[in-house]
Amino acid sequence: MDVTPIISDLNDAQRQAVTAPSEPTLVIAGAGSGKTRVLVHRAAWLIDVEGVSPQSLLAVTFTNKAAAEMRGRIESLLNLPVNHLWIGTFHGLAHRMLRRHWREAGLPQSFQIIDSDDQLRLLKRLLKSLEIDDSRWVPKEIQWFINAQKDEGLRPQHIDDEGDPDRRQMISFYQSYEEICQRGGLVDFAELLLRAHELLRDNAELLSHYQRRFRHLLVDEFQDTNAIQYAWLRLLAGDSGVPFVVGDDDQSIYRWRGARVEHIHRFQQDFPGTRVVKLEQNYRSTATILNAANAVIANNASRLGKNLWTEGADGEPIKVYSAYNERDEADFVIGRLRDWIAQGNARADSAVLYRSNAQSRVLEEGLINAGIPYRVYGGLRFFERAEIKDALAYLRLIANRDDDSSFERVVNKPTRGIGARTVELMRSYARANACSMWRAAGAIASNDLNGRAANAVTAFMTLIERMAREVRGLDLEDQVDHVIHMSGLVDFFKKDKGEKGETRVENLLELVSAAKSFEPDPAEEMAPLDEFLSHAALEAGEGQADAWEDCVQLMTMHSAKGLEFPLVFICGMEDGLFPHQRSIADPNGLEEERRLCYVGITRAKQTLYVTHAEQRRLHGMDNFSQPSRFIAEIPDEHVEEIRPRVQVSRPMHTARPSRKRGSSISPGGELGIRLGQRVRHKKFGDGVILNCEGQGAHARVEVNFESAGTKWLVLSYANLETF
Ligand code: ATP
Ligand code: MG
Repeated sequence: MDVTPIISDLNDAQRQAVTAPSEPTLVIAGAGSGKTRVLVHRAAWLIDVEGVSPQSLLAVTFTNKAAAEMRGRIESLLNLPVNHLWIGTFHGLAHRMLRRHWREAGLPQSFQIIDSDDQLRLLKRLLKSLEIDDSRWVPKEIQWFINAQKDEGLRPQHIDDEGDPDRRQMISFYQSYEEICQRGGLVDFAELLLRAHELLRDNAELLSHYQRRFRHLLVDEFQDTNAIQYAWLRLLAGDSGVPFVVGDDDQSIYRWRGARVEHIHRFQQDFPGTRVVKLEQNYRSTATILNAANAVIANNASRLGKNLWTEGADGEPIKVYSAYNERDEADFVIGRLRDWIAQGNARADSAVLYRSNAQSRVLEEGLINAGIPYRVYGGLRFFERAEIKDALAYLRLIANRDDDSSFERVVNKPTRGIGARTVELMRSYARANACSMWRAAGAIASNDLNGRAANAVTAFMTLIERMAREVRGLDLEDQVDHVIHMSGLVDFFKKDKGEKGETRVENLLELVSAAKSFEPDPAEEMAPLDEFLSHAALEAGEGQADAWEDCVQLMTMHSAKGLEFPLVFICGMEDGLFPHQRSIADPNGLEEERRLCYVGITRAKQTLYVTHAEQRRLHGMDNFSQPSRFIAEIPDEHVEEIRPRVQVSRPMHTARPSRKRGSSISPGGELGIRLGQRVRHKKFGDGVILNCEGQGAHARVEVNFESAGTKWLVLSYANLETF
């Protein structure tokens, strides 16, 4: 058969999808089965074979990067540029439509997009103008409420107050916020989608124009569309459009942001006669990796159910490494990365994945020390994150009041009523008198400012002085801990309801971990805080690879969706971290975490390492955890456990006689440990030793604690007392 080149490298099921007649089509298939590839080929097929104009196509991807990649792939298949093709994210496409039809959308031509920080500032100003107490009505909660309503397609007049006065108040804030945005021509992210939907819904002519124009609607990652995105799509498709959507119910991981996997069912009801194509052959991963992923996801009850197989070789087993702690874990990952690079592989073909943003810090530190270029994909490196810079600015100011950039960064963060005008006054005073902002602040507070502004400035200066006094003499970690709380930063970010606020708090707490693990260099002869601050500054300025440079990819599992790498590490596979603590008790939450695990595993093409640590210092706390239940869900035959090398030498500090009451256990030493011995742990209380293994620094014991249950502990860290 003479097949056109466009479909020559597709399997039968893929070909069936790509060449399907112009009818609504749903491709539902597992990871790595070629969904994205089918979408790209479908676009090329329509243009090249069906003679569809590129202008009649609308393609939706999940990220801007994916959009650029898709355009490139279509162009290379067709061997010509496709400039008129509308391809982008839902937000990007909605924005484009609003720019073209600003008048019909009821917007000024020069409307501005505001990001989430701008939105929050606006809400704060609103509360102030209404003279409303922002501790009673928290701006972040209002923001969250407004965005959630918009994601559901609701305007204030559509929302039922359910007879609840608080809810009525929220609705009224939404109303006022909307008026301000409308007056100023401001459009937030959620508004882009909602407005674009209303634009089509309320303009029959425009709608029919676009319905005629975009006959073919192609959507990737369909399982993660939210209500307003779906509604927009539904409207555009009308009665004669041909939606062609691809997705995987097992990879729905954005429920917390309003995504609804139910849209897969809804689609089939809304478009009767939908052609459903299933792709079952996986081309990405070895059989071992694929079978492991299949086995894990099989534990989820709510699934459409599908079968994935591969013709590929079995490949290597999945290697599970049990680290003693997060540093040992990072050392292990970096050792393996070194080997991989030494073998002549590209760094960019390797990815290190983790559940929580804050986990990147220890990995970054190791990579910097090892001189391995890396990039944090879809995010900033630890010491460059805004909240970390905020906390460091407080610490810097404590160390040196004349640090102007730190002063400016935090003088009004969290907001304390020091406005731009006051700051400008300080600047000009500082310029005129050639002094620091700090001195300028002191001077103008007592002369030039009105009572309210003067009080705010004085309160800020008193706060810094008080912090400086209170942290004097404390350990470095306690200094950091004190400052992130006392500055109000932790509370400030806590008010942010979404995952973003939570991530920021976690990062701040992780800074305490960083301080705890920081080992000052005695040769430096600096105060530990000063040395820590220089360390942070250097780390922020260093290491991030240039865009063109070949580098290891670090990212959260959420950001890894749709991507693939020959070598993948999944770090921090511990119950409580992954699955995340707050999901464990909730069956829906746990299933979403398991889907995320499925996404993680299926990113790997050839080699997959899974690591967990028995003890982890994260977010400023020491945790002792069990390996993730997801590891146990991988059948044994696919797993090879890597046992850490056993060290014979005894660590110095455990060999020293203890001066405390009782005595520390010295593993493998003359004190020995007896099974059945009673021990006491600072956090877990009293228990009995059940088991022991290993020697020296890596010796571990299993202890049955009376209240905390059974745990494996590393002796050199656990500081057990015998009695
Ligand atoms: P995900 O669910 O992770 O988004 P996907 O279903 O979109 O995965 P793709 O990324 O399109 O899968 O494809 C996975 C890999 O398999 C890619 O490297 C792709 O080029 C390759 N692939 C897909 N189909 C074929 C095929 N018929 N022949 C050769 N390689 C293929
Ligand atoms: Mg894909």
